[in-house]
Amino acid sequence: SLSDRLGGVFDRLRGRGALSEDDVRAAMREVRIALLEADVALPVVRRFIDRVTEEAVGQSVLKSVTPGQQVVKIVNDALVEMLGSEAADLDLAAAPPVVIMMVGLQGSGKTTSTAKIGKLLKEKRGKKVMMASLDVNRPAAQEQLRVLGEQAGVATLPIVPGQSPVEIATRALHSAKLQAVDVLLLDTAGRLHVDQALMDEMKAVAAISVPKETLLVVDSLTGQDAVNVAQAFAGEVDLTGVVLTRMDGDARGGAALSMRAVTGKPIKFAATGEKLDAIEPFQPERVAGRILGMGDIVSIVEKAAATIKQDEAEKLAARMAKGQFDMNDLRMQLQQMQRMGGLGALAGLMPGMKKAKAAMAQSGMDDKVLLHMDAIIGSMTAKERTKPELLNAKRKIRVAKGSGTTVQDVNKLLKMHMEMAKAMKQIKKMGGLKGLGALFG
Ligand code: GDP
Ligand code: MG
Repeated sequence: SLSDRLGGVFDRLRGRGALSEDDVRAAMREVRIALLEADVALPVVRRFIDRVTEEAVGQSVLKSVTPGQQVVKIVNDALVEMLGSEAADLDLAAAPPVVIMMVGLQGSGKTTSTAKIGKLLKEKRGKKVMMASLDVNRPAAQEQLRVLGEQAGVATLPIVPGQSPVEIATRALHSAKLQAVDVLLLDTAGRLHVDQALMDEMKAVAAISVPKETLLVVDSLTGQDAVNVAQAFAGEVDLTGVVLTRMDGDARGGAALSMRAVTGKPIKFAATGEKLDAIEPFQPERVAGRILGMGDIVSIVEKAAATIKQDEAEKLAARMAKGQFDMNDLRMQLQQMQRMGGLGALAGLMPGMKKAKAAMAQSGMDDKVLLHMDAIIGSMTAKERTKPELLNAKRKIRVAKGSGTTVQDVNKLLKMHMEMAKAMKQIKKMGGLKGLGALFG
């Protein structure tokens, strides 16, 4: 498994604190193979590896895990982020009837997914739903949707033989308006291969129905091929999301990563079977675990990080409850961040930290700055640490020299400390730790 391979790569690394570029590159060779085995498209693999390499180099390794495990966690987090870390819901904010157009190749699972989504919107969201099949190529296609609609308890547009897809769509819109339907699902025709006739038909339907959502339905088992399909569709219509079908098969999840990267659109649903209930919101964590095949390692590292958080957080919490926050507290925080793998890892570990990280990056604060700040506090006397207001111009020059930084850097740190101390007082006022949500949420 990838975990064994990474273990080998990192055996010689034991005892060292941070992941070096060479170590990370060696690990990435293994990750690359794992991704290709999971059927991720090659250009996507390249992009992913570059990104993770940049993020992993220089990260320090948690004490209780091996470097290999830590890398797996970094890779996992990057996968989750690339797969879409926020839940992507359907956007139904428009005047009814809100149109959802389903597109994709023949056999991808469009008609089944249409019925599944219709059922879900009706049962879980209380929407009044109508479905219409625009598939005039296959004789039984419209009948198939009608039968599924009956099973799902969702209305379908009555079938009128001899109409074109645009004519059916026009009739569906009209009928949906008359019946005060909330959501109209249009199941378009598929082809065995992407061709211009299919694209033109799809565009014509989109032009008259103005869909709020255009969902590309892709069979996750088609792996690499799914990428070409996605590219072709994304170039022709404004996709808003992807539905990945046959996630119940032995797909290793590679298609999901490729889809997301190629279309830039969120995967909104994963379909997991033929039954009409077999659909769920897409879960990036689960798919990331499937690609790497190592959910347990990820949880080990998470636990290790959580333990550290717990210890230090308890100490800090006790002081915060009293509204205290001096340089020693700040230093403890900085060291904790450092140990947990710097700002990057922290952002991946704690909910809400992503925003904080983005803000820090914007103000030019990165992992190097963490080290600088630690050095600055290290150059202060014990008295200065508990009473930072003692730091006058002369003392600042001394501290800057001692830490190899500038007076400007020292001032920046003091300002940051002041703001944090203020926040701590605020928290005390707001009722202690309960108020913390406001800071990190
Ligand atoms: P369409 O041509 O794109 O409309 O595809 P269909 O909806 O007709 O589906 C083709 C076949 O795939 C049918 O037999 C479906 O029951 C089956 N199918 C659709 N989605 C899934 C899924 O998520 N898992 C499995 N195992 N089968 C599926
Ligand atoms: Mg169909």
